[in-house]
Amino acid sequence: MDKVVWKDGKKVAFALCFDLDSDTIWYNKIRHYDGGMQFLRGPHVGRYGPKRGADRIMRILERYSLHATFFVPGVVAESNGPLLNRMLEEGHEIAHHGLTHEASYGDTLEEQMAILDRCQEIFRRVTGRKAVGFRPTGNLLPETQRVLFRDPDTLYYAHGAMGEDPQFVSVEGEETRVVYLPCRLEMDDYIQMTYNCWPPIPSGLPRISAYEDVLSNFRDELDGAIRYGGCVTTAFHPQVSGSPGKSLILEQLIEYALNTGEIWIARCDEIAAYWRNAHTPEALHV
Ligand SMILES: [Zn+2]
Repeated sequence: MDKVVWKDGKKVAFALCFDLDSDTIWYNKIRHYDGGMQFLRGPHVGRYGPKRGADRIMRILERYSLHATFFVPGVVAESNGPLLNRMLEEGHEIAHHGLTHEASYGDTLEEQMAILDRCQEIFRRVTGRKAVGFRPTGNLLPETQRVLFRDPDTLYYAHGAMGEDPQFVSVEGEETRVVYLPCRLEMDDYIQMTYNCWPPIPSGLPRISAYEDVLSNFRDELDGAIRYGGCVTTAFHPQVSGSPGKSLILEQLIEYALNTGEIWIARCDEIAAYWRNAHTPEALHV
């Protein structure tokens, strides 16, 4: 499929996405260690996301009149209703990101749909609306994909598995109207800047990257996207990019992106809807 020229003729669509994972990752990892709970250290690092980091990020976005997508596990949504509603009031999007950030949604269609549905129930109860975008934390069975991607309420699937270009998701060889948005590890702040002793994150406990290097990496990804066209989404985390020092990386990255004049910064749902409209048969054949 041809690359689209994005809104206002921009070469790149850039979604600032933040996973509001809170402490879910700590508890998920600790389960793999016998008696691990008694050695648990640092879940407050995760809780910093909803407690402080998210607000700092929202203030930065407000300064630049930008809107972002927050991927939120169901249990985090349940215990952070006021924050989620503030996000929506300020124009941000809330999207699907597992129930407990589990690495597996189960082995059957029923088990997997139960997780997907339970999260939507929580979103509906807490915010009054369902999510239209999905970044699953575990693999979806083909039969689950069949149900999810044929649901007319599903707008996009943010993932890394289908390459770097937006495209329609196919089910059993049949193209759906669900838009795949690429999500690449290079734009993940966790990998470059997270460090926790127990459970060990990252597992070999190498030192975190210098902040200048991280900013430079992110900028290079945007430069590459401008050169080749396309769509970039981030997997930033309020518990990481919302800390005082790391938030400067976010701020400088936003400044850089805006100064290029080539990048449209928008929420995932806006980008997916734009791409879908640009690729309706009517638009393609005019
Ligand atoms: Zn996550």
